[in-house]
Amino acid sequence: MSEPLMSARGIHKSFGDNHVLRGVDLDVRPGQVVALIGPSGSGKTTMLRSLNGLEMPDAGTLAFDGGPEIDFSRPVPAAQRFAARDRSAMVFQHHNLFPHKTVLQNVTEGPVQVRKVPRAEAEARATDLLARVGLAEKRDAYPRELSGGQQQRVGIVRALALQPDLLLFDEPTSALDPELVGEVLHVMKSLADEGWTMVVVTHELQFAREVADEVLFLDGGVVAERGAPAQLFTHPREERTKQFLHRIL
Ligand code: ADP
Repeated sequence: MSEPLMSARGIHKSFGDNHVLRGVDLDVRPGQVVALIGPSGSGKTTMLRSLNGLEMPDAGTLAFDGGPEIDFSRPVPAAQRFAARDRSAMVFQHHNLFPHKTVLQNVTEGPVQVRKVPRAEAEARATDLLARVGLAEKRDAYPRELSGGQQQRVGIVRALALQPDLLLFDEPTSALDPELVGEVLHVMKSLADEGWTMVVVTHELQFAREVADEVLFLDGGVVAERGAPAQLFTHPREERTKQFLHRIL
């Protein structure tokens, strides 16, 4: 089996006296899709945000490509923190597009401002990516002129434009009207088929079942069960996984 692209060990995070993550391990290998499922409040989003420095864990380690570990129990140098952040890009529950910028401007903002990609190159890449998600003709539109599903597809393109090694999805369909969910999941499935490495927090268990290579069931800030989807969804070993699936399915 290949080396993990990213390896998180023993991640702990508290908000005040709310101990949200209680020692979570997560490995993602190149090309793998890992789904995080579990009840609301179990720590899925906090774990995802801990993987790219949007949340600073209190303890645990994070490493890329088997390289040096970031140890969160000590002060993390800014350079290390930003290096980790540069490896991944996040797709949020709410697309967070700039309302006064066009689709193209939204997509090129990160590459041009943060990654210092020449504008012409960033625009060419953005145009190509927009075409791949069926939004070529929306290049010059403003976010308010798009449907929720189209906005979220732009959110995905914006993440792709950063050319990350790892895509992080935080419940990307949960704010959408049900009829718009399919188009976004379709794009995510194509990305998985193309070999993108992805960690996905999702309530879409059917999607997790079809697309994920590994599923982690979080409950109370720990991984209560992990496994291949065929095993975890069909023959869960743990009683709390069974109860969760029973409630949801
Ligand atoms: P999930 O994604 O599984 O629903 P979250 O990671 O969003 O769970 O939240 C886990 C717990 O952490 C919840 O009790 C939530 O209220 C708390 N929490 C998350 N983010 C913050 C924050 N920034 N400040 C305080 N509490 C937070």
